[in-house]
Amino acid sequence: MTRKAHGAICHCGAAVITGDDNDRAALAATVDPRHLTRGGELLAVIDGRTIYELSSGRLYRRDRWMLRGPCRHPVLAEHRCQERIPDTWRLPPTPPTPPRQETAW
Ligand SMILES: [Zn+2]
Repeated sequence: MTRKAHGAICHCGAAVITGDDNDRAALAATVDPRHLTRGGELLAVIDGRTIYELSSGRLYRRDRWMLRGPCRHPVLAEHRCQERIPDTWRLPPTPPTPPRQETAW
């Protein structure tokens, strides 16, 4: 069983998510916390980055078979110090959800 992914600060000062990258023979993975678009995922692969999906609080490396289709979980790219992921690869940040308003009736 993999260790749960958790937020951390990289030695370069960037906010990252770290965790094991698989259930067996896992390696430590460090990823950028912003979710990628499908196009951003493919561009990250072309850039040579390892891609992960975040499922049930755990990171799973997306292999070439998994890359053939879109993922229903958040997709994250490997963090590289001083090599920022372009904003065009990332999903826009989710706006905060407004509080629910109670109806009077
Ligand atoms: Zn770093």
